[in-house]
Amino acid sequence: MESIAIFHELENQERLDYTIDFLNKHPLLKGKFAFVANPDSMPDQCIWYGLDEDDSICMPAQEVFFSTKKVDSSQYNANPYTHKNKTVYSVEELSKSSTDFLFNGDFCFDVFEAIFFHISRYEEVFAEAKYNNKAGWLEEKDQFLVRNQLEKIPVVDHIISTLILALTQQSIDTKATHSISHDIDIIARFGSSTQMMRTVVASVYHRKGLSNFFQSIGQVFKYISGSQKDPYDVFDWLITDKSNFTEKTIYFMTGGETEHDNRYDIKDPKVATLLQLATQRKYEVGIHPSYNASEDTDMHIGETATLAKVSNRKIKKSRQHFLRWSWDKTPEIISQSPIDQDSSMGYNRRLGFRCGTGYAYHLYDFKTEKAYTWTELPLAYMESSLIHESEKTGKSVEEISNAFSDQNKQSTHIEMNWHNSNFDESLPHGNMLKSLYHKILNEV
Ligand SMILES: [Zn+2]
Repeated sequence: MESIAIFHELENQERLDYTIDFLNKHPLLKGKFAFVANPDSMPDQCIWYGLDEDDSICMPAQEVFFSTKKVDSSQYNANPYTHKNKTVYSVEELSKSSTDFLFNGDFCFDVFEAIFFHISRYEEVFAEAKYNNKAGWLEEKDQFLVRNQLEKIPVVDHIISTLILALTQQSIDTKATHSISHDIDIIARFGSSTQMMRTVVASVYHRKGLSNFFQSIGQVFKYISGSQKDPYDVFDWLITDKSNFTEKTIYFMTGGETEHDNRYDIKDPKVATLLQLATQRKYEVGIHPSYNASEDTDMHIGETATLAKVSNRKIKKSRQHFLRWSWDKTPEIISQSPIDQDSSMGYNRRLGFRCGTGYAYHLYDFKTEKAYTWTELPLAYMESSLIHESEKTGKSVEEISNAFSDQNKQSTHIEMNWHNSNFDESLPHGNMLKSLYHKILNEV
């Protein structure tokens, strides 16, 4: 293991220490390189951070996001810096055109603050409530990475690989890893005969034309006659037995108090069958807390306890329904719950890396200036976000997904979420999503 010293004279060093800890646990660096702040001895590699030292490698200290004074980052820019064939992006107030990452042997922007800005979710934590979306967090289009059209690449993972290359001339790039999950929001389309009638009537009211009406009637008859399974019952192929994933998780809902919740009963025999299948195929079971549970400790903990009881296992993983998240409350609720990994940091309207990294890490608690004890596995890829992006841009789901995969073959992790309810052949993207899903399973 090689040590890399960071010499600095920062007054408040908690945020730099957190960033160094993040780096030392990062899968691209782990076991190979370790950063250490102000060591007594002088290792081979040193960065003089915010200090001028002749004949040594220096890096400017921006002292914005590491300072405890709150800053409005809504006008900050991502300036491109290049090294060999790699480009990395800063988080700076002034806009600059493309320049070298290393100039005369010194780094040209503050890498540590840029990493901290993304992984701490600084801009979201300090965003005014009026700029938040329905899910409870900063509107996607106003987020730094989306504003700068950089959400499709893991800017933080790229900075790390480029920093090591520039410092040591060694490449730490590795093949991207993948994990897979399914949020079970609804288990069957046709639960009862009234639900079936509603489906047919809704196809007339909400959808276009008579062809859809006849298709819906056709689906209902095929289902009643037993010649077709429920269109949401795709579990035999959705729940994959492939072992190339670092994690496989199925998230169930057990409660709720809004129209977005309670679309099945956790005690339904269909759930028991699905649990059995998922267990056979080596999935872990997680809780999908209901709409309002992101702001209610008792609900969150109660719903998790119900799932633990029904499934007869410990529940350690969680992903918020609709990715609902209140920066004031949700992290605290998770800290008080038995959950040790959340996976809600994704976009609802597009594919991409909301935290700049695809790998799991600890989020930052600005109140205590310390890392939370649980980890966050960012959600980079969700098929419902892909559908939204396709409808917004006019590009097909396949085109968007392929471009995303092509851009992210190296040095990151992609956590995916696929819902069982979006492969229905009566939905506009149903069949294309099904073939896309099978293609991805074969490629991973
Ligand atoms: Zn959900």
